[in-house]
Amino acid sequence: MKKLALHWKILIALLLAFSIGLWANFTTESTIEKPAWFENLHYFTNFVGSLFLNALKMVVIPLVMTSIICGVAKIGEDKDFGRLGLKTLFFYSLTGLLAVVVGLLCVNLIEPGQVDPGIREKMLSGQSALEAQKVERAFEHADGGMKGILEIFQRMIPQNLFKAAVEGQLLGLIFFSLLFGFFIARLPGKYKQSQTIFWEGLNSTILGITNFVISFAPYGVFGLVTPTLMMVGIETISVMGTFALTVLLGLAIHSFLVLPILLRILGKINFFQHFQALSPALLTAFSTASSSATLPVTLDCITKRAGVSKKIASFTLPLGATMNMDGTALFECVVVVFLAQLFGVEMTWVTQSTVVIMALLTSIGVAGIPSASLVAIIVILHAVGFPDATISIGVGIVFVVDRLLDMTRTAVNVLGDSCAAAIIGKSEGETGYYPSNPG
Ligand code: ASP
Repeated sequence: MKKLALHWKILIALLLAFSIGLWANFTTESTIEKPAWFENLHYFTNFVGSLFLNALKMVVIPLVMTSIICGVAKIGEDKDFGRLGLKTLFFYSLTGLLAVVVGLLCVNLIEPGQVDPGIREKMLSGQSALEAQKVERAFEHADGGMKGILEIFQRMIPQNLFKAAVEGQLLGLIFFSLLFGFFIARLPGKYKQSQTIFWEGLNSTILGITNFVISFAPYGVFGLVTPTLMMVGIETISVMGTFALTVLLGLAIHSFLVLPILLRILGKINFFQHFQALSPALLTAFSTASSSATLPVTLDCITKRAGVSKKIASFTLPLGATMNMDGTALFECVVVVFLAQLFGVEMTWVTQSTVVIMALLTSIGVAGIPSASLVAIIVILHAVGFPDATISIGVGIVFVVDRLLDMTRTAVNVLGDSCAAAIIGKSEGETGYYPSNPG
């Protein structure tokens, strides 16, 4: 019998997680003290989910470092390096800008923040104030305005490599690995050879571990999504229905219209083939809400199922996972304009352009971890002059529905990165994409 492809297995796990999670939430909705079976189910699924997430995170740092070092050592000798770098930056800026424009159009057309005064009052008190406090505590280190942005960029050059690794500061590690690979390429003969062999061996070993971890994805996805839905439920989404729909519509337009057009025009690539090849990565991104944790799966899909070379993938994807966040940039824009509408703050097109630029800049610095963009949103709200009190209430309101939107925007972030890798590969003359029947 033919084995079921990985993406189908993950999809089935996701459907099961949705059914069980929502059912558990629904049946215990009215009870304050949750029954023992609920607690047990939550504990057990959460346990399975965190095992998978831990395993993914375990391979992220060695995988990112060895992939970049090997990739750059190979291309660092000649002009390729600069050309690839420029192409990657150009593509990331282009898709980021398009995403932000889509978000801005959606939020200005739908105006989700123009709510009934009664509802507005309710939203600005009670539950959201409570959530606001949580957010404020969680993000009290987020600084405002230009300083906040600069601080994000300061992390790019880490003082201490090991501290950056311990704290999972991917951007700093990427910067170091780029330099490391670049200078391996400049070593004299025998040193260069031994370094290249060493790092390639290490990279292959880590890839082996990664494949092993990925084979558990269906269980991991089930374990990650079930407890989330048990706690959140679908009802929280409906409270903020129009806002959530605006974000989802923007993300859908970017994923199913903008990116497919770019794939077709710039890479002559069929979007559906690409989407199918990347589906395990997209489903993992959806389940983990973390582009960084998904990176091992993205690298695996883009090289094995999509057929992009390791050289291009290992250069573009780790950079993309931290720097190219289309979904996040779009989300940030929608949130800021939504909150302005909600608080009755007039936002001229000039202020909105500031939001665009800030959203683009901060999405580069935002870490690929769950809810990371809330920090960036605080930075932007400060920069466009929101008073502190409104910022915490506003972020609290958004926080209520953040998890499910985070899952979706992370999938869009990963989709954007993968499109970049495929298009850049094509532009470098690569062929043989999407071998039939990816397994
Ligand atoms: N969770 C997102 C990611 O990992 C970042 C964010 O938008 O919060 O890509």
